[in-house]
Amino acid sequence: MAVFVYAENINGVYKKAAFEAVAYAKAIADQAGDTVTAISVNPTDASDVLYKYGASNVINIKDEGLKSFSAKAYAQAVSEVANGNIIVFPHTTDASSIAPMLAIMNGHSLITNAIAVPESLSPFQVKRKSFSGKGFMHAKAEGAGVIVTVSQNAFGVKENIVSGSEEVKNLSVANEDTKVISHEQSSGKLDLKEAEIVVSAGRGMKGPENWGMIEELANVLGAATACSKPVSDIGWRPHTEHVGQTGKAISPNLYVAVGISGAIQHLAGVNSSKTIVVINSDAEAPFFKSADYGVVGDAFQIIPALTEKIKAIKA
Ligand SMILES: Cc1cc2nc3c(=O)[nH]c(=O)nc-3n(C[C@H](O)[C@H](O)[C@H](O)COP(=O)(O)OP(=O)(O)OC[C@H]3O[C@@H](n4cnc5c(N)ncnc54)[C@H](O)[C@@H]3O)c2cc1C
Repeated sequence: MAVFVYAENINGVYKKAAFEAVAYAKAIADQAGDTVTAISVNPTDASDVLYKYGASNVINIKDEGLKSFSAKAYAQAVSEVANGNIIVFPHTTDASSIAPMLAIMNGHSLITNAIAVPESLSPFQVKRKSFSGKGFMHAKAEGAGVIVTVSQNAFGVKENIVSGSEEVKNLSVANEDTKVISHEQSSGKLDLKEAEIVVSAGRGMKGPENWGMIEELANVLGAATACSKPVSDIGWRPHTEHVGQTGKAISPNLYVAVGISGAIQHLAGVNSSKTIVVINSDAEAPFFKSADYGVVGDAFQIIPALTEKIKAIKA
């Protein structure tokens, strides 16, 4: 039976996390000697972009009622079209809330935050992140059906072009439990969870009036901006930028932390970034222990100089 994968889109456009999940599902399908069927809700992107990562079939759910997100309604929609024993989700905010709903509906096992291809399919066993990324474990699913979420950037967006076909399913799932009262849009140009590079700053910036230099550095790097929790709590930056245990968990290729001490709760949301650069005036700041590169010095001197240097290199 085919391996199914939920291909998440935002306003119809597929997310990078969707491509990674499809590539991961393809690796599972190859182990099983089977094919991948991707499922998406109201996409506007063409299905070809999913064939590129290994989806042989794409089921496009068309449902006006699903224009606003509800984990329960989306789980219901996915359950109406996914009739396989393995269903993969990206570990995004939305998808990681659909997956447990679907597991309950189907009576399937749920394994979250997988970081490698499964060690076996029967029983399904896979390495997953645990303790907020501080450790890992090997989880084994009970029973035949399993829903697995893939930790973002753990597997990678691997191309695996197949010829594919598309099927449109018109559904009208009840979506009455959730009413969107307000919607806070991230102020940055880039989606923080999708960004390859993130420039993040903390209380060391002293006040919101000093964020111009952080935004300028982010701008020249093509990066999204983020911040520590106290910074968003005081209102220096919007809550959408807060990363960490109680904020967004991100894993960009490059995370630049400016004036952030590196408390364990902050690290919990960023420590799976590929490369971490820490800029801090205190050589004893705990963040340096997790850094790939560290600069001890005053951010107010280093950031403008770094920005100018990058501009010069780019020019
Ligand atoms: C239950 C719980 C959940 C939490 N969740 C989160 C979370 O999700 N995310 C999060 O971030 N925090 C979280 N926290 C808070 C966390 O414990 C820390 O208090 C917080 O991360 C500290 O923020 P900070 O590094 O910006 O500030 P500080 O700890 O005040 O650090 C400021 C840093 O800036 C440096 N600095 C000062 N001046 C300069 C300069 N001129 N140039 C360069 N560096 C300078 C200092 O040396 C210092 O290291 C949580 C706490 C609890 C209890």
